[in-house]
Amino acid sequence: MLQLHTEAKFVKGVGPRVAEWLAQKNIATVEDLLYYLPFRYEDRLNPRGIAELREGEMATVIAEVRNSGVFQTRRMPIFRMVAGQGRASIQCMWFNAEYLRDRFKPGQFVALYGKVEREWKGKGLQIVQPQFEIIGDLQDVDGEEPQEIESLEVGRIVPIYESAANAKLTSRWFRRIMHGTLQNLSPDIADGLPPSLCRRLNLLDRRTAFQLAHFPEVGESFADLQAFRTPAHRRLIFEELFFLEIGLEWRRKRLRQRTGITFELNDKVRAAIKKILPFHPTTAQKRVLKEIAHDMQHPSPMRRLLQGDVGSGKTIVALQAAVIACENGYQVAFMAPTEILATQHYLSARRILEEAGYRVVLLTGSLEEERKRNARRHIAQGDAHLVIGTHALIQEKVEFHNLGLVIVDEQHRFGVMQRFKLMKKGGAEPDTLVMTATPIPRTLALTLYGDLDTSVLDELPPGRTPITTRKVSDERAPEVWEFVRKQITAGRQAYVVYPVIEGVPSDQPEMEFTGAPATSKSGLKAAMHMYEELRKKTFPTLRVGLLHGRLNPDEKDQTMRRFQAGEIDVLVATTVIEVGVDVPNATVMVVEHAERFGLAQLHQLRGRIGRGSAKSYCILMTGGKVSPEADQRLNAMVRTQNGFEIAELDLELRGPGEFFGTRQAGMPSLRLANLVRDRQLLEVAKTEATRFVADSDAEITPADRERVMDHMRNHWQRRYGLVEVG
Ligand code: ADP
Ligand code: MG
Repeated sequence: MLQLHTEAKFVKGVGPRVAEWLAQKNIATVEDLLYYLPFRYEDRLNPRGIAELREGEMATVIAEVRNSGVFQTRRMPIFRMVAGQGRASIQCMWFNAEYLRDRFKPGQFVALYGKVEREWKGKGLQIVQPQFEIIGDLQDVDGEEPQEIESLEVGRIVPIYESAANAKLTSRWFRRIMHGTLQNLSPDIADGLPPSLCRRLNLLDRRTAFQLAHFPEVGESFADLQAFRTPAHRRLIFEELFFLEIGLEWRRKRLRQRTGITFELNDKVRAAIKKILPFHPTTAQKRVLKEIAHDMQHPSPMRRLLQGDVGSGKTIVALQAAVIACENGYQVAFMAPTEILATQHYLSARRILEEAGYRVVLLTGSLEEERKRNARRHIAQGDAHLVIGTHALIQEKVEFHNLGLVIVDEQHRFGVMQRFKLMKKGGAEPDTLVMTATPIPRTLALTLYGDLDTSVLDELPPGRTPITTRKVSDERAPEVWEFVRKQITAGRQAYVVYPVIEGVPSDQPEMEFTGAPATSKSGLKAAMHMYEELRKKTFPTLRVGLLHGRLNPDEKDQTMRRFQAGEIDVLVATTVIEVGVDVPNATVMVVEHAERFGLAQLHQLRGRIGRGSAKSYCILMTGGKVSPEADQRLNAMVRTQNGFEIAELDLELRGPGEFFGTRQAGMPSLRLANLVRDRQLLEVAKTEATRFVADSDAEITPADRERVMDHMRNHWQRRYGLVEVG
């Protein structure tokens, strides 16, 4: 009998060599193997007749091989195979596929899956590059009855697996192994979910769920299967999300038990917070400050995420929190994602805080050694109250005298790991406030930031006029430039943004493209070239500046200051400006090749304007071909300015992995669940996990608790690597 923890190499048909291949897919045990679910299914119960196929559909066809061979074209060899049913036949083609030359024998049956098309010149139908399986192909099967194998391949809904180890482990191979594994699997496998919960939510038991997810029963809805929505899928996905949320809940709970700093909020402190305010705070700002202050007064370390769209006024709230800490005799670290931003925060913090007697120091990599040394000394002695710098700098090289509050401005970056590293600094654990300008869709917040408390600034400061956004083709560039000229004559400033710095194919794009993949980078208008063009030809009478990531920090700083001071009218830039730049007099944002940018990026870019009282305009210029997805992105930008709406759509279009650009350290890797597709299940899992941890579900027995603990002990560390279970 196989148990879930049995090593994969003991499964019949696996052996040591194959076990190594499986290990590359992170399959070490029988349980891992069972989680290797089919990525799609083929309906071979009701196979399609060739005669009834329609152009354009995805179809599975079972037919008999008639003939096959390789023919040469000028560009490449093409392998062609004709398969038939009675008098009907269909042609299949594979490009560059010499390797298929002797693969098919006339008379064999094949299952083909792909998109049905009309033949190029003929009247018949074809499938180009279909996925295929030769049915009853016994060449790699030994010791099993042919009928038994065949019954896995036809006359049923057939699971299709991703092949592994460079296709040495095929979909058919997995099917056989899974079948054997399930047959030999102990009838009584560990199930971490409390039975009462399964009953209430109508969830299948674990073993049945594995069985049916791999080998669906006759009568299962084919559409539900393809969408991972069958009861079997739901059960397995729910389980994964439930335990993830349990882990995050536990972590929160444990954090609440740790001792941090208890800040005092007396009248003197209140007066100090009020005194620094340069304007009336919005209702949202007041509410959020109250939430933060409440945490700070609590003895356990604060861990709060402040979400607020660009321009919602997070900085002042953070500075108020800093004042609470300073008034209590503690130091504050304020970390920004870039030097430009750190410098900007430094300037505004000084403006706001120095008059009130707080000492603010800046610490960035490009400062002279002497100044850095000085700053470090003041920080260590404790006479620097607020330290502003880039993440890396503050984290690695600074000794604080008495650090009480850490403010992390992540803008739209997610530095999940960084949060945790900083927690270890100093004696008592400081409070942490993480700010992000990226509206995080709720489903992601529930997982990625699931252990943080959340505050949302959902109101813009008064006096902002909505931004008008237009999408135009760059054939109309002259009109756009004319408009820019008018705005500048009226005393305003403008940004013009390009996707790349230089036109020559560059392997160092300014930032990763989040939009359509760049197949060819040539043909893109680039910042450096367009800077010359705009400066000399389009706007010869205006002051045009250039800003991109390859300038040295001094040059960047210089240009930013001049733009801020109104000494530059038109700032030509790359996406370096997307983060945090605040120049209220800039009212025009022109984005060239807007089709190349991701939604989040466009939203951030647009956030640079509409910061003053004058009306602002965002012009999304497209150059060249616009894919349907790009068009969807641009239309969304024209339609709405609501960051949460945009983030939800972005997540839907790109999926969670892409949403973050790269795989994030600290982001749990989910085996089955997909946060977009399974968002409803996630909500349920979150609710149930909270109830469980809070011990408010009366049906849960001590044995159930033990069962859940057991599962967590065996899985959490290994799967998510997030925490040790305590
Ligand atoms: P973000 O949330 O993007 O960091 P900022 O904190 O930079 O936003 O604020 C954007 C602009 O709005 C700044 O110029 C800031 O001074 C201004 N601001 C913030 N809060 C208010 C308010 N309550 N009333 C008026 N202006 C405000
Ligand atoms: Mg900000």
